[in-house]
Amino acid sequence: MEHFDVVIIGGGIVGSSAACALGGAGLRVAVVEAHAAQAGEATPDARMYAVTRASERIFRALGAWDAIAAHDHCAFTDMEVWDAVGHGTLHFDCGELGEPCLGYILEPHVIASALQERLLTQSAVHLFCPASCAALLTGASHAEVRLDDGRVLAARVVVAADGARSPARSLLGIGVSGRDYRQGSLVATVRTALPHRNTAWQRFLPGGPLAFLPVGDGRCSIVWTMPVTDIDHMLTLAQEEFHTELGAAFGHRLGEIVDSGPRAAWPLRRQHAERYVIERAALIGDAAHAIHPLAGQGVNLGLLDAAALSEVILDAVHRGRDPGTLRSLRRFERWRRGDNQLMMSTMDGINRLFSNASPLLGQVRSRGLDAVNRTGMLRQLFMRHAMGLGGDLPVLAREPELPEPAA
Ligand SMILES: Cc1cc2nc3c(=O)[nH]c(=O)nc-3n(C[C@H](O)[C@H](O)[C@H](O)COP(=O)(O)OP(=O)(O)OC[C@H]3O[C@@H](n4cnc5c(N)ncnc54)[C@H](O)[C@@H]3O)c2cc1C
Repeated sequence: MEHFDVVIIGGGIVGSSAACALGGAGLRVAVVEAHAAQAGEATPDARMYAVTRASERIFRALGAWDAIAAHDHCAFTDMEVWDAVGHGTLHFDCGELGEPCLGYILEPHVIASALQERLLTQSAVHLFCPASCAALLTGASHAEVRLDDGRVLAARVVVAADGARSPARSLLGIGVSGRDYRQGSLVATVRTALPHRNTAWQRFLPGGPLAFLPVGDGRCSIVWTMPVTDIDHMLTLAQEEFHTELGAAFGHRLGEIVDSGPRAAWPLRRQHAERYVIERAALIGDAAHAIHPLAGQGVNLGLLDAAALSEVILDAVHRGRDPGTLRSLRRFERWRRGDNQLMMSTMDGINRLFSNASPLLGQVRSRGLDAVNRTGMLRQLFMRHAMGLGGDLPVLAREPELPEPAA
């Protein structure tokens, strides 16, 4: 049996970030990852992620940001949101907060590869890949993770970061509540006749929101949410027809769609774990919560979980306490569950309010959007939350303090 301070199951963006934070602080960490590709160059995904300023700070603190920013990326400065049924519009501009941008559009495999590079430089982090967890036992003094090849890892804390389906969560006996949105998101990269102007665009259609996210090379990454019954039709449509339908759905805001890449789709489900912690174990990222992608917050919330859990574990260790007791881990649950729940409920509410064709609700929406757009304080509050800068931030997501000037 090999002994670790922390065993992390799942080496995606969230699990790798937690491993970097804990390993970088000197704890002995094991990462168990099922897919061999995660141990080298991560595989490209049709999606691009909207990454908040809070996540940028976490990547900087973990030493991964320079490798991420070295790749083609877009720092978006503006956001434009409008309703296809009503006439309301909302515009966010980073200049209003004195910030250089609202966030970034990045490729997930670029983030994953940068984190893996960091992990390879940390001697305290041991990667078990490809390997998956076959059994998990939690006891009063430690937890045991049995891998599918028979090896056994013992740890003071086990962290499940193995995604929305989380086999580790099931092995820990933690249930989830959730519901199917009966919507799916179609994703593709497209080229438009007009430039995207470093703006993230979102039009609310009765079937679901349609986002055009600006990409560094001038193209846009689209996330088109629609009823699941329409997805197959859109996936198989001939390219010209797809361009015509997409251009019309977007109200030709950036002119004609002139080119597009491969299309892929994801079914959408809302899910929240009944608890984030039990004695010796904690859930982070999609293993704890899966959220509607309309505001691109999923991985950003997971990164805040990773930063908060690492802080709680390191704090307990520095105080000479056992980091795996329920008492220690509950601090993480109290810290993150409320914020995640608030974000999930807000996204649910927005999705329900906008994903319908009712003219009456159209009027309510238009008034709501216009009211936020006219009220500086409300606009700035929404912007700060979209940038991930609202709420009680973990140290890794806070603005680094400037050094004291020399006397
Ligand atoms: C269409 C769409 C668009 C999105 N856009 C955005 C966006 O713009 N911004 C944003 O923040 N979020 C976005 N998201 C959400 C984002 O994809 C998820 O929140 C994110 O992938 C969660 O990361 P994770 O590391 O928790 O889980 P995952 O990415 O699912 O990673 C889990 C890891 O665990 C491994 N694993 C699984 N089972 C085992 C096992 N038994 N043993 C060992 N390893 C295992 C997997 O191989 C994987 O590497 C979007 C989601 C969708 C569907």
